Amino acid sequence: MPNRHKTLTRYIIEQDHLHPGVSGDFSGLLSSLATAIKIIANQVQRGALIGALGNAALGDQINVQGEVQKKLDIISNDVMLQENEWSGHIAGMASEEMEDIYQIPEHFQRGKYLLIFDPLDGSSNIDVNVTVGTIFSILRTRHPGEQPGLEDFLQPGTEQVCAGFALYGPATMLVLTTGNGVDCFTLDRDVGDFILTHPQMRIPQDCKEFAINTSNERFWEPPVRRCIGEYLAGKTGPCGKDYNMRWVASLVADTFRILTRGGVFLYPRDSKDPNKPSRLRLMYEANPISFIIEQAGGMAITGRGRVMELQPESLHQRAPFIFGSKNEVERILQYHQEFDRGDPGGPGDFDSPLFSSRSLFRNETQ
Ligand code: MN
Ligand code: MN
Repeated sequence: MPNRHKTLTRYIIEQDHLHPGVSGDFSGLLSSLATAIKIIANQVQRGALIGALGNAALGDQINVQGEVQKKLDIISNDVMLQENEWSGHIAGMASEEMEDIYQIPEHFQRGKYLLIFDPLDGSSNIDVNVTVGTIFSILRTRHPGEQPGLEDFLQPGTEQVCAGFALYGPATMLVLTTGNGVDCFTLDRDVGDFILTHPQMRIPQDCKEFAINTSNERFWEPPVRRCIGEYLAGKTGPCGKDYNMRWVASLVADTFRILTRGGVFLYPRDSKDPNKPSRLRLMYEANPISFIIEQAGGMAITGRGRVMELQPESLHQRAPFIFGSKNEVERILQYHQEFDRGDPGGPGDFDSPLFSSRSLFRNETQ
């Protein structure tokens, strides 16, 4: 294994040498980010031993999303802010846990990058010891050195210069893209650094696993019902093969499984809450994960177009999110197009006898 001893530090410096136009700013940014991730990993791992589990404060503190904040949400958010604000490389930050932009304090220098993050993804599962993570997205600010405004942050995902996520699971890992493929590192706690363990990850184009929260089935749109119905029909259905369902309900964990062995993930548009077209957040969940998925040869869509081409209108905007193995996602895109065109019939039509007789998800009231 030639890459066994390549540390993140060495990797970052070598990346700098590959792109001589880029100043050391970016490597400085990545190393302070890696420090923040190591600190959060430590806090998450110690959990109950340091009293870090459970809900924050009074137990009814909710964040801007209307979700209960966990103690570790707040701890992780503070670590991200404190470890990144002083470096001089960042012009401003935004987080799932803060309603507004975080301005860099006056006594620190401001740089040319914007850092947007979900400090602890999957945190509703933290008390049951399921894998959680930190997701981040890095953009260029339009006015380096100046205080950024909201409009500076509202850039489509295609403008990201770097994206990644950390996984706090049996091992702590860091998955990273700067637009040259996807590299993954594992934290060696004895050495204290991340080691490149999964260079240039590639998602298989076909897959036999799907991930979706089936309890929302009654709220799905017909193209999604059609797709899941075909998966369930297995070998005897139009797909001609059997599928397995895998659902961790922690976006980082589901993403890493798909990066490792393929699969398709769906948190599609649904009609559950008219104020929320879907659940996942565009700027610090769907965009960074999409950048990674595309860089690993996969595909990431809303159902009707590329996620990264959406023009964000607010910091905490939600977006339908479907991603994974290219051929599967392409098929789901096609199903949405056929539905929107009103194509009748066909073997996969959701009202077809095939769907009704073979799908376990048949809507009894329809
Ligand atoms: Mn999250
Ligand atoms: Mn979170």
